[in-house]
Amino acid sequence: MGAVVAGFVFLAAGAAGAETIRVAVVEKAKEVRLSSSEPLRFLDSKGAALALNSGRQASVRAQGGGLAVGDQPVGRTVRLRPSGESLAVDGVSYPGEIEIRAAPGERLQVVNHVDVETYVAGVVPREVPAAWDIEVLKAQAVLARTYALSLRQRSAGQAFDIGAGVDHQAYSGESALHPKVQEAVRSTRGEVLAYKGELAEAVYHAYCGGVTENAADVWGRSFPYLQSIRSECRLGDTPPTWTYHIEANDLARRLRAAGIVFSGAVTAVEPADLSQTGRIRTVRVRTGEGPREMRGIDFRKAVGPDLVKSTRFTIEPEGDGFRFAGLGSGHGVGLCQHGARAMADGKAGYREILARYFPGTAVTLSSKVKKNNQVRLVNR
Ligand SMILES: [Zn+2]
Repeated sequence: MGAVVAGFVFLAAGAAGAETIRVAVVEKAKEVRLSSSEPLRFLDSKGAALALNSGRQASVRAQGGGLAVGDQPVGRTVRLRPSGESLAVDGVSYPGEIEIRAAPGERLQVVNHVDVETYVAGVVPREVPAAWDIEVLKAQAVLARTYALSLRQRSAGQAFDIGAGVDHQAYSGESALHPKVQEAVRSTRGEVLAYKGELAEAVYHAYCGGVTENAADVWGRSFPYLQSIRSECRLGDTPPTWTYHIEANDLARRLRAAGIVFSGAVTAVEPADLSQTGRIRTVRVRTGEGPREMRGIDFRKAVGPDLVKSTRFTIEPEGDGFRFAGLGSGHGVGLCQHGARAMADGKAGYREILARYFPGTAVTLSSKVKKNNQVRLVNR
């Protein structure tokens, strides 16, 4: 009987929460500062008001395995609902409810319960310039919504659905909101990218350099709609190529920091295996204790994805280190943002853009997709 009741409660909560997503905006802090234009009203985990006289500003701290507001212990979870104006956490304003939970090691975690559409409007301007054609913003909104809902599908039982850092999708609450982006989100409300009735892998990158990549060559998993295609990209002021110099000892330090453990120095870096589009599938790093091979994307992530901008590069010794010279930006799979921009210049709409980069998929309402719990690809 207990299990039946619990199951019912879970389903009811899931249905009621269908329009919101839980975003961890702070994952491990000792203390956060809250502020609002109205007096802060703290609630306990069941939603009952706590007798705290905190005014418009307060600090919440991890203390003794729980939380304290100012000096007053308040248990392991507090919630705040904005009254009219939104709430700021460490100076960043968030729409919707804020939940603060004690986390292991005298830390706390802040989760923003936000309407999915509002969340998408906060993400899109962090991923693509708001000044771009609105059809590109609409395509990006559909992908951001698809990605967020994919993660939410498999986060049941966890404290939050999605992080706010660049490992997921960058989100900074209301600070990045832009009227043109909000219009793009409104006009695609509820729309997601689906393949055979399920949420598609909504992956994208900045600039493919003329040809996108097969998902299988990056992540080792093949998808019918994530195959390499030619892409005419409009770069504007962005240079198509990049170079980067790194000292050998700095490279060794970064690889070790990423958990690639070896002794001695890095003596050479070379491509071990190229994909059909010329991207490095496997990198061979020669070290004091012999060669080490790793996936191109893992190497890029370890060194710094903003420095080694893509896996389409050559490496040469230079001074006390190495010189990387590359083309493109990002993993190259799925939507090419600069390619989408070129299509929008040619008067293509967002549906046409998505159909080109994800052939065989359809834009559909999220209420119509079937649930699946497959492991998701990550964008970076
Ligand atoms: Zn492109």
